Amino acid sequence: MDMKDIQTQELVKKYNFKFTKSLGQNFLTDESVPHDIVNGAEVNKDDLVIEIGPGVGTLTTQLLNRAKRVIAIELDDKLIPILQEELGDNPNFQLIHNDALKVDFKQLIGEEKHVKLVANLPYYVTTPIIVKLLKERYNFESLTIMIQKEVAERIDAEPNCKDYGSLSLLVQYYCDTKIVRKVAPSCFIPRPKVESIVIRLDKLASPRVEVKDEKLFFEVIRSSFNMRRKTLMNGLKVLGLPKEKLEEAFNNAGIDLRRRGETLSIEEFANLSDQIYEVKN
Ligand code: SAM
Repeated sequence: MDMKDIQTQELVKKYNFKFTKSLGQNFLTDESVPHDIVNGAEVNKDDLVIEIGPGVGTLTTQLLNRAKRVIAIELDDKLIPILQEELGDNPNFQLIHNDALKVDFKQLIGEEKHVKLVANLPYYVTTPIIVKLLKERYNFESLTIMIQKEVAERIDAEPNCKDYGSLSLLVQYYCDTKIVRKVAPSCFIPRPKVESIVIRLDKLASPRVEVKDEKLFFEVIRSSFNMRRKTLMNGLKVLGLPKEKLEEAFNNAGIDLRRRGETLSIEEFANLSDQIYEVKN
């Protein structure tokens, strides 16, 4: 066995585990990656760590060495007995057999003050999981997640970049973002087709910008990126406002009618959505 291989391969063999592609199962085999994830998350003895998708427990084992307590949420029935057998004796470990999208994180977090989410996420549900974790405003200090490279680049993008869009703005509304490292397909079994990135999202004490109507703010953002090639004015027609009202909002916000969504900063989106709110009400 390669010097850098960890026990993932052995466990897969020991339990004759068969991977389910539709569950996004690509397990880490290169030991530098869980190490860098745990370090990147700055996990320490005060922390409750919640992990989504522990697999055979590769990252979980490292988390248990560093955290006060780890709660892991796994959907695959076949992995539950393996995780119980391998990690069940550890009093600081709790396993939840459920779909992460259905879990009430608020209940898991309870009164804990220092809570971090750390995960090598299943790529088929990355965006819905991130949206849930941020929009439901759980009390996480940070989310350190491994995701597909393209999604990480969208999250981390700045205005005027091709990757800048609704996901960048949603995440940056709630968090500071920091790329921890890149991860090659050769670090997993089976190898994914895409490259991966570990990204850390640090929750801000309050959202980056203050807006009058959060729902409208996100609606304005979504509509602005729906038709990328069109100007903002065109995209925002779906809001159903008369043209003059929309023009008035743009003028009040000091934003040129011909601009495209990808050129607006989060502050400009906040200002524009507040002005739309004013002319609407
Ligand atoms: N943490 C392990 C590692 O790094 O080697 C495995 C990561 S693998 C990319 C994703 C894991 O998420 C798998 O164990 C998979 O069964 C699990 N999973 C997939 N969908 C899930 C869901 N909706 N909720 C919870 N876990 C899920």
